[in-house]
Amino acid sequence: MSMPLSWWEYQDAYHNSELCIVGAGIVGLSTALFYAQQRPKAKIVVLESGNRPSGASLRNAGFACFGSVGEIADDLKHSSLEATIALIAARRQGLALLRKVQGDKALSFDACGGYELFFSEEKEAAEQALDLLPKLNQSLLEAGVFTKELYRIVRPSNLPQNSFKGLHLAIFHAEEAALNPVHLWQSLLHKCLSLGVRYQPGVALTALPEAEDGKGYLCSCSGVEFRTRRLVMATNAFAHYFLPNQVQPARAQVLVSAPLAMDLPRGTFHHHKGYNYFRFVEGRLLLGGGRHLNPQAEAKLEANTSEEIQHYLQTFAQEKLGIDGLQVAHRWSGFMGVGKAKMPKLEKDTEGRVWAVRLGGMGVALGTEIGQRAAALCLED
Ligand SMILES: Cc1cc2nc3c(=O)[nH]c(=O)nc-3n(C[C@H](O)[C@H](O)[C@H](O)COP(=O)(O)OP(=O)(O)OC[C@H]3O[C@@H](n4cnc5c(N)ncnc54)[C@H](O)[C@@H]3O)c2cc1C
Repeated sequence: MSMPLSWWEYQDAYHNSELCIVGAGIVGLSTALFYAQQRPKAKIVVLESGNRPSGASLRNAGFACFGSVGEIADDLKHSSLEATIALIAARRQGLALLRKVQGDKALSFDACGGYELFFSEEKEAAEQALDLLPKLNQSLLEAGVFTKELYRIVRPSNLPQNSFKGLHLAIFHAEEAALNPVHLWQSLLHKCLSLGVRYQPGVALTALPEAEDGKGYLCSCSGVEFRTRRLVMATNAFAHYFLPNQVQPARAQVLVSAPLAMDLPRGTFHHHKGYNYFRFVEGRLLLGGGRHLNPQAEAKLEANTSEEIQHYLQTFAQEKLGIDGLQVAHRWSGFMGVGKAKMPKLEKDTEGRVWAVRLGGMGVALGTEIGQRAAALCLED
């Protein structure tokens, strides 16, 4: 049973609110943090419909990534080289900002480097990646995104401590890293709370408020109504409920194995245009992906896992990664917000509401900067 708030609680959390941010993932909390830094006296309230954030920020795989060559080759079928380079630049910039704001220790940041793998039946895709690699490295250098060549070919036999089967080609990305998503989020929340941000879990915005002349927005939430001068929608995949043509949900599934009795390679690993990804965490395999098998079935906001994809992931672990007798200890899913464009949707609409949504599979790298830019958009007027 949800109890009505006391007057004191209402006054403290909602009354005279300057900014209301809907969604307490990386983007929502980053927006709150940067706004609070600029306006220390402002009352900022962050609404979160779940008891804990229930989209992607606590449920992701913790890859601090830029995009693998195979994934970029696929992106180039739909977008220009310039747009693709701009996206990689945004990820690099976002990651640098994240590390600056939080510090590597708070993130449990591991600058381990990353690999993209091509197995023997993927020779055609490997050739495409090899064709693109020099041009991509050169374009990134020319655009000043990196000062050294980012991607380099590694002979499968030089990959350390791996049991991979039928590996044909590996491409190493020196700048890739891994982090702990929960540590990231907790550190961000801690910073926000220390600046007086009001975090309200278990409170969902139920309808999209319209601007009322000079009075801001009247927000109706689970059992609470209040006015706010500014409004930011940071609901990522859930923006689909309000903008069905611009944001689509994409469920992503992950498994973690029982501890493995074998030597494990360090690094982040990508496969099949970035759809599959894995790394080893505390002696266990963390493996996600398989969404390409049935994208339509995964375009939903239902927080469960499917037998089809979990079976695919287990088979992949056994047949490609050479992990015999894989025991799964844990499975979960989360929601990405995707759309035709790979860039997030960051804009002020005609009602003055700021949308900072559609972070795709790259929110770890992009989220902090998108939050910073959303805060700046709010402060424009
Ligand atoms: C399984 C999985 C693995 C991933 N792996 C990686 C990875 O390794 N690297 C990477 O860079 N990215 C990864 N991503 C993507 C990344 O996690 C996201 O891009 C990022 O977390 C998005 O952050 P966000 O703040 O925009 O959205 P979210 O974290 O989804 O936050 C939106 C919040 O809004 C809340 N909300 C929604 N509607 C309402 C409402 N009406 N009222 C109040 N609150 C509401 C939701 O509960 C949610 O907590 C992964 C995603 C998933 C699902």
